[in-house]
Amino acid sequence: MSDMTDHVDLFVIGAGSGGVRAARMSAQYGASVAIAEEFRIGGTCVIRGCIPKKFMVYAAGYGEGFEEAKGYGWLADNIRFDWATLIAAKDQEIDRLSGIYRRNLGNAGVSMYEERAEITGPNTVKLIPSGRIFTCGKILIATGGTPRKLGFDGEEHTITSNEVFHLDSIPKHIVINGGGFIACEFASIFAGLGVKTCLIYRRDTVLRGFDYDIRTHVHNELIRQGVRVVTHANIKAVKKAGDDLQVVLDTGVNIDCDQVMMATGRVPATDGLGLETAGVNTSRSGAVMVDEFGQTNISSIFAVGDVTDRIALTPVAIREGAAFADSEFGDRRHSFDHRDVASAVFTHPPVGSVGLSEHDAREEFGDIDIYKASFRPLRHTLSGSAEKYMMKLVVRASDQVVVGVHLVSDAAPEIIQVAAIAVKAGLTKAEWDETCAVHPTAAEELVLMREKYVPDPLEDGEAV
Ligand code: NDP
Repeated sequence: MSDMTDHVDLFVIGAGSGGVRAARMSAQYGASVAIAEEFRIGGTCVIRGCIPKKFMVYAAGYGEGFEEAKGYGWLADNIRFDWATLIAAKDQEIDRLSGIYRRNLGNAGVSMYEERAEITGPNTVKLIPSGRIFTCGKILIATGGTPRKLGFDGEEHTITSNEVFHLDSIPKHIVINGGGFIACEFASIFAGLGVKTCLIYRRDTVLRGFDYDIRTHVHNELIRQGVRVVTHANIKAVKKAGDDLQVVLDTGVNIDCDQVMMATGRVPATDGLGLETAGVNTSRSGAVMVDEFGQTNISSIFAVGDVTDRIALTPVAIREGAAFADSEFGDRRHSFDHRDVASAVFTHPPVGSVGLSEHDAREEFGDIDIYKASFRPLRHTLSGSAEKYMMKLVVRASDQVVVGVHLVSDAAPEIIQVAAIAVKAGLTKAEWDETCAVHPTAAEELVLMREKYVPDPLEDGEAV
């Protein structure tokens, strides 16, 4: 145990997206700031989340791209994929990005400690293993989340998104458990890379929480991509024999494979953080409970990002971190507005979504108008692919404001960024329609849909 004691205005625990932004900005406002990180500077998004995942999405996209190119006259024979090349290139870029985060923190004057931090009181933090102790004016918890464990027999033979970026070789047959962001994205990635892929989901349609048309569209596209989607099933056990695995489902079905990836959600990373010692209130899921300004029930302790279990997205954590720095060390007290945050799911084709789903809008406003289109994009008339796109607008009937936009299309994540501006600005359907189309694009559909969608009375309702 060391007798080293330092004082800082702000101690940040966790050098991911939210923590780094808050630390840098607070230091730039003149605060003395220290940050601790027990894994790697950059956090989940940079090290084992959004960025390496997106490289894999690009890699997988080429697989189908080579096939489709034949329809356009390309002779793409003898195409091979080399996993080791992808992993090495990805690792090199992640190292570079982590280095940039490190340099930016250093340039802002933030002291970095690459060890674990534990809160020992409302204004004290201890580093482990060095034993260095800090007294601090404020503490910011930005420790993110960690994959949920389910506790079945043989779970130790499975991987999560923590390990998937470092596999020595590409699986031959992977079973993925879950139906959320990570499960759907990796099912698409592995299928695109030519891996035999099976998705196990406990309900009937993936991407619960999204608009039902997005859910059914993505579900069907996964199947079209060749993913075997097994619904209403849970993993009971995973048995290992040499390099082979057997997944035992509670439906009585067994599936042989060589890799099992659990993507059954993430839980706030608060274990051993000292929250009880400091008296910080947590929710049943272990999330740090905060008010709109990120402040906990202990006035000197704040939290931002996934650890608060609000919206677990990088840009949200960054905005929460920035609002914290502005409010506590700058000259502008404000909070981040969590409404109408756009999101993307990088399946193939990907999803873009902002605002309310049809179901939620109906619950909130009663009377709503729906405009939607499902179509084969121009590109695929020659490529031969059966892939389809879906575009949908949810409009509040009373004032014709567009309150939700839901897309599944090649460029959906790019389009939705711009559509989110219109939704956030509260533009009406007539104002969307006044905007002249860009032709020929898929996105032009968004300003050309004139016919209200009338549901078929025999149509199934919202799935669970
Ligand atoms: P999600 O919450 O998106 O999905 C979790 C999935 O696991 C759901 O399908 C859920 O089923 C299922 N599940 C939960 N508990 C169990 C259980 N006990 N047994 C079986 N299945 C279970 O989590 P992810 O891990 O996919 O992603 C975590 C978060 O990270 C996301 O919510 C998102 O905010 C963020 N993220 C964002 C990405 C992006 O922006 N593109 C990409 C990846 C992650 P059910 O539907 O029944 O609840």
